[in-house]
Amino acid sequence: MTSLQQTIAQSGSRNTGGELYDFAASLFPVCRSITGNGLRETLRAIGARIPLQIHEVPSGTPVFDWVVPKEWNIRDAYIADEQGRRLVDFRGSNLHVVNYSIPIHARMSYAELKPYLHTIPEHPEWIPYRTSYYKEDWGLCLAHEQLQKLDSHERYEVCIDSSLEEGALTYGECYLPGQIEDEILISSHCCHPSLANDNLSAVSVATFLADELAKHSLRYTYRFVFAPGTIGAITWLARNREAAQRIRHGLVLSGIGNADRFHYKKSRRGNAEIDRAAARVLAQLPQAGTVLEFSPYGYDERQYCSPGFNLPVGCLMRSVWGTFPEYHTSADNLDFIHAAQLAEAWRVCLNIFDVLESNYAYRNLNPFCEPQLGRRDLYGSLGCSPSIAEEINARLWVLNFSDGNHSLLDIAERSGIAFSIIREAADLLVRKQLLVAVGGESLRREQSHASEAVLTFNTTSTFR
Ligand code: ZN
Repeated sequence: MTSLQQTIAQSGSRNTGGELYDFAASLFPVCRSITGNGLRETLRAIGARIPLQIHEVPSGTPVFDWVVPKEWNIRDAYIADEQGRRLVDFRGSNLHVVNYSIPIHARMSYAELKPYLHTIPEHPEWIPYRTSYYKEDWGLCLAHEQLQKLDSHERYEVCIDSSLEEGALTYGECYLPGQIEDEILISSHCCHPSLANDNLSAVSVATFLADELAKHSLRYTYRFVFAPGTIGAITWLARNREAAQRIRHGLVLSGIGNADRFHYKKSRRGNAEIDRAAARVLAQLPQAGTVLEFSPYGYDERQYCSPGFNLPVGCLMRSVWGTFPEYHTSADNLDFIHAAQLAEAWRVCLNIFDVLESNYAYRNLNPFCEPQLGRRDLYGSLGCSPSIAEEINARLWVLNFSDGNHSLLDIAERSGIAFSIIREAADLLVRKQLLVAVGGESLRREQSHASEAVLTFNTTSTFR
């Protein structure tokens, strides 16, 4: 069993889900945006748990076809009646202000105010989440039932105490060096204010993944990027064109804490190893996940998969963006995400990494007809249990396809047997000296053990 598999097996006895949920809940009240102090506060909280390098990129910096925007900060916002009673109050929910609203303080009639108000008539109790990042504008969001209580003959005081000034865009990076420089990228947007699934669920899962992976000695180097959506990923790519070339596999994480099954959106390449590893892991879940083809709309995989980069980066989520009523509303709150779902998402990611970490090809050292398994205690006994039968079947699959050209993932796909069972079969066959890993620098642990054994034997015989 690999150290990642041991962690996954032990996670049931630890309260991983509770910890993931509590971290998301602690970040929930913060008013984040694509720049500003809420984003910084969030990154600092992540940085208190994992080694995080925080970068500040000045407003006005060109990043490909875009420019880093002015920095937005907000202190207060409200609509008050003529008696000064707050009818809509930012202090109650930061979704009440259109994110990136320019400052305003004025008295106006209902008719003048109305075009700046946003509601969801189909869900009269929910507040919508709206933004105006790239067009200077202002607005307020409220529950439709709040709007219906406003008096069309009254005048209202409107205040948005915000600032939009030269400043910086902030993002965070956690770099965990592995045995090789090839990287696995995990990217999640962290720019939404009080929305739990989109995307505190993924921010929390990514933070705890980094915390866990840092404890293991792994083949790949892991890089976590916590950045505001779209402009953050574009900024990271503009500043890391060279580093991006080392990304061998990548996952954008988003909306993975609600009760829906998993969806994995493939990379633009469509058959990248990450696409296949994710599909295998989702297929083995009690509630099998769904694999979606790439499309140029969605989360930050759009940037990583733009044709100039075309990186093997897919997107793991539960419900697909825009397809469920709670999406971008106040109903995406802490009741919409669950500890068990967060923990499962964390385990699914570890399982995907575990496939990537150990997806080697092997060579059968006894390729002329089947080796006699019974003589080597590899064939079980007559009438063995179904799980033993599957293990034996896995050994036969591994022996047959280990011609140096088929990886363990190829064999898992073709046989339909879980990757972990295929890998255990390969480990056992290596120990029985029927199999050897191929691939130069990427020789795996088992093989190095095997070659140590050979070396010891040779040394001994020299001294004999
Ligand atoms: Zn969103």
